[in-house]
Amino acid sequence: MRHAACGMRQRMCIALAIALRPRLLIVDEPTTALDVSVQEGILRLVRQLQRETGMALIFVTHDLAVARLVASEVAVMYAGGIVERGGIDDIYRRPAHPHTRALLASQPDTARNWSDLRPVAGSPPDKADIVPGCAFHPRCPLATDRCTTEEPDLRALSADRLSRCHHAEEVLDAAH
Ligand code: SF4
Repeated sequence: MRHAACGMRQRMCIALAIALRPRLLIVDEPTTALDVSVQEGILRLVRQLQRETGMALIFVTHDLAVARLVASEVAVMYAGGIVERGGIDDIYRRPAHPHTRALLASQPDTARNWSDLRPVAGSPPDKADIVPGCAFHPRCPLATDRCTTEEPDLRALSADRLSRCHHAEEVLDAAH
């Protein structure tokens, strides 16, 4: 019952937000804490509204499986910055950043069996801490000495793919 009421509230918020026919709608975690059936209804509504109005949509979520249902392009973030950007299907097939790879390994929809699921090791950095080098290096299985001292740039790997990793090509190759 509580989930249904939350779902109704989310639908009303979305209806109010599009009443002025915006060209861009930003939706921040609209499906968090909702059960799967209510979540599905919200996602269907968002997709339908986008199709009918043609507005651009920025959908913020911690759930890559949800992103795959609504987005054509995804920007994966870590410690407040974008670490990878590209088409959602490309990223699912061949992640180019160890953080994305770890997120996918922890997703039930990408694991073949429950025993394949792997939690992302370690914890995110405290906002007050400044991590030298790559912000992900304390949690990264591929970290090298360079990663602990030199902050990687967000760089283009192809026309439609960006990664903030010194070893992005190796991560891509390993996904073959
Ligand atoms: S730059 Fe180094 S530590 Fe950072 S994600 Fe890439 S391999 Fe891992």
